[in-house]
Amino acid sequence: MKLLKCPKCGELFSDSYKECPFCAEDEELAQGGKARHGRRIQRQKSPSIGGPVLVIVIVFLAAFLVYAFFGDKISSLFEKTDKPSVEDVTPAPSPTPDTSVTLTLDQQTLTLVEGGSTKLTVSGADADWGTWVYRALTFLVISCPCALVISIPLSFFAGLGGAGKEGVLIKGSNYLEALSQTKTVVFDKTGTLTQGVFEVSAVHHSPMAQEKLLEYAALAECASSHPISKSLQKAAGGALDRSRVTDIQEHSGRGVTAVVDGVTVAAGNGKLMEELGVAWHECHSVGTIVHIAVNGEYAGHIVISDVEKPHSRDAIAALKAAGVTKTVMLTGDIQKVADYVARDLGVDEVRAELLPADKVARVEELLKAEPEGAKLAFVGDGINDAPVLSRADIGIAMGAMGSDAAIEAADVVLMDDDPMKIAKAIKISRKCIRIVHENIVFSLGVKLLCLLLVALGFANMWMGIFADVGVMVLAVLNAIRALRVHNL
Ligand code: ADP
Ligand code: MG
Repeated sequence: MKLLKCPKCGELFSDSYKECPFCAEDEELAQGGKARHGRRIQRQKSPSIGGPVLVIVIVFLAAFLVYAFFGDKISSLFEKTDKPSVEDVTPAPSPTPDTSVTLTLDQQTLTLVEGGSTKLTVSGADADWGTWVYRALTFLVISCPCALVISIPLSFFAGLGGAGKEGVLIKGSNYLEALSQTKTVVFDKTGTLTQGVFEVSAVHHSPMAQEKLLEYAALAECASSHPISKSLQKAAGGALDRSRVTDIQEHSGRGVTAVVDGVTVAAGNGKLMEELGVAWHECHSVGTIVHIAVNGEYAGHIVISDVEKPHSRDAIAALKAAGVTKTVMLTGDIQKVADYVARDLGVDEVRAELLPADKVARVEELLKAEPEGAKLAFVGDGINDAPVLSRADIGIAMGAMGSDAAIEAADVVLMDDDPMKIAKAIKISRKCIRIVHENIVFSLGVKLLCLLLVALGFANMWMGIFADVGVMVLAVLNAIRALRVHNL
């Protein structure tokens, strides 16, 4: 299934519809589309975070009004708290007046009188309970961590939502954080930087008729999901009778073998021919080469050519502008094609003729060479690169053309297969992380300052409320900025 973008309303819809179900004039199609996309419509209608923000603002204003009207009474309540009571501790008169001892506690003065003369006087300041209880309560209000607890997850949710709106599905806020630290981006070639739509440009060294060779190749490939296989089936034309094919085996990163009409057909690259012990010829044309062997005998090769995606070159340039220091292309295709594509697109490093396991090994090497704290992202369509998608710090898969395995294994999915979105995803993640840091520094900074002022007696409950609810409202408003990513 492919997702198409409606030019009218901008919605994504399955290619099983003839036209966009969201703005279709056909009532039945519109109903069916809306029913099948119910979950998505529901999600669009789900309440925005504007509601909770409004509630917080109202609570804040209510607290403000209550304190404005009743503030004096609340303060006086504290000020009128009991002062230490005056106690006279006067022992009963002793039978001999000369040896009498009197202990008097008057306000803040403790007096000891023995035998008529004052022996000891101790004076102290007023305990001032009202002031200190008031300050303690203000401390309690300021130290409430709600600004951090609410605004940090909210910034991540907003970042994920903003990225989703741009067609980049990020599977968790930890990947958003990792994306912001990306320094190396590794690409697959076919289906990632190139469109993966091949045209047959020539058939060479074939002792049999071209049509026959193409038919054998297409039949052998009839069960494969590789872009090469789809192109060969298209080039063979007409409907293929799959009952003519048995014993299909896909050799990952090499090609396929199958029995067609009782003869063994192998279609793939030089590695596959070597494995099967077939004497094969190099081809001097630039393009991807599919060598064919029939019954263990070399039967010529088909030259197919792929085209780069229109934004691939700009995508590499945008990544460099976004601070990515190294771009690498890993492909199973031949060196000649890989070099040509890498040079044309401006990729820094290229490795060709790799099997899926070789791609994992090369990514392991790159991961070891990464500096501390830097992350490596692998971008692929998942055909022959699902293992490496899971091994990289961040796996980015093509959502429309990519295989289900890739979408499952990846941490980030590009809904429209546009490589330009990789730089965009990195910028979105950086903005989101910047907002999170701003909120942490702002909230903690204001709270620490207010705590100090309260302890020294320069601030009152008003400032406490600002440091708690006010800072939280400001941090929430700042977090909402992470949703605005369209112009990044
Ligand atoms: P990339 O790494 O560029 O995406 P792949 O790993 O998918 O390329 O494939 C690597 C090479 O393996 C292809 O260039 C092709 O030569 C060969 N190959 C893979 N699958 C097939 C297939 N189904 N039919 C023919 N050749 C294939
Ligand atoms: Mg590929």
